[in-house]
Amino acid sequence: MKVLVINAGSSSLKYQLMDPETGAVSAKGLCERIGIDGKFTYKAGGKTVIDAADVAMPTHAEGIQAVLDALVNPEYGVIASMDEIDAVGHRVLHGGAKFTESCLVDEACKQAIRDCIPLGPLHNPANLMGIEACEKVMPGKPQVAVFDTAFHMTMPAEAYTYAIPYEYYENDQVRRYGFHGTSHRYIAERALAMLGRTETPEGTKIINCHLGNGSSLCAIKDGKCVDTTMGLGPLAGIPMGTRCGDIDATIMEYLMGRYGYDIGQMMNILNKKSGVLGISGVSSDFRDLEAAEKEGNARAKLALDKFFYEVRKAIGAYAAAMGGVDAIVFTAGVGENGIANRARIMKGLEYLGAKIDPEKNNTRGVEAEISTADSKVKIFVIPTNEELMIAKDTARLAK
Ligand code: ADP
Repeated sequence: MKVLVINAGSSSLKYQLMDPETGAVSAKGLCERIGIDGKFTYKAGGKTVIDAADVAMPTHAEGIQAVLDALVNPEYGVIASMDEIDAVGHRVLHGGAKFTESCLVDEACKQAIRDCIPLGPLHNPANLMGIEACEKVMPGKPQVAVFDTAFHMTMPAEAYTYAIPYEYYENDQVRRYGFHGTSHRYIAERALAMLGRTETPEGTKIINCHLGNGSSLCAIKDGKCVDTTMGLGPLAGIPMGTRCGDIDATIMEYLMGRYGYDIGQMMNILNKKSGVLGISGVSSDFRDLEAAEKEGNARAKLALDKFFYEVRKAIGAYAAAMGGVDAIVFTAGVGENGIANRARIMKGLEYLGAKIDPEKNNTRGVEAEISTADSKVKIFVIPTNEELMIAKDTARLAK
């Protein structure tokens, strides 16, 4: 079976052709600058076969067509015809409270994604464009929507309710939703397998730290999400590359009053100019920050220290929320690769019974247990694979 996995943004579209059973990727790439000057990359057999600029791509549909043309190309394609693609799986950002799992795309599903546009104004319209582009180019092909929010819908009310007038929840759906759910779900499955608890998840307590450009933590009890750091939108929680994470809302009132910013300018600062970039003034990239810190840059050090402090605090909070923890997992760019970062986060968490082994921690990008033999809490590195989750859901629902 072959599933085409699509992650559509407003002007870009990532794709992978994947076997949902083995996770083998036969081809992947990226359409960029859709609606501008169109850029197209296509990788197959581990090599970049196409890296082309100025590809006519006025809409996502031409992007999808370029993907299909490359996939069936007699010279460098990986399939003989489009019929070999069994189904298409889409990453969709916001499913509101309606979607607790993935769904087969039909008119009702598309309408529900549309209804969630006010909650995901940047991503949901783009995700819909990806779905509609596939409908146009591959009519009748089964499509599945996989929501970033779905895994978090098992949170109890005390975790998802904000302490503002309750009518905003009842009338306007203001609540914690959480994101990176597909990644957190994948990690939950892998961590349960590494704990030997796939068949008996009851009683397990896992804290997953998805640390990338965007970052969130998830408390996973009995294999299900019970809390997560992101909120109504992905701006909340721990500081990120350029997002502020949790801040006192008074800051907005204060700065808007002082500088006359409108809400758009204020949100732009909090989304694009804050986080570790904002503190350091150097970069949103953790490798740049580590390099700057080594050269004695005090603000780069402060940005890193702040980030590690907030991750550590969130781990402590989730251990408290679940009444303990069996495994702490690191994933995504920083979590999978940041050896020193993991060590700095775990420093001071020994009281939980979580001891990192410096030698085992010397690993990058592969599944590994990095805790000491006598650590009561297992510490794992698990590379995330959202695409595989999307492909698996798609295969299951398209059957
Ligand atoms: P996204 O949220 O965009 O998917 P990623 O999960 O790819 O982001 O993570 C990107 C982050 O991972 C960047 O800040 C990058 O610096 C960091 N990263 C990648 N490799 C390393 C490394 N070897 N050491 C430390 N950080 C790394």
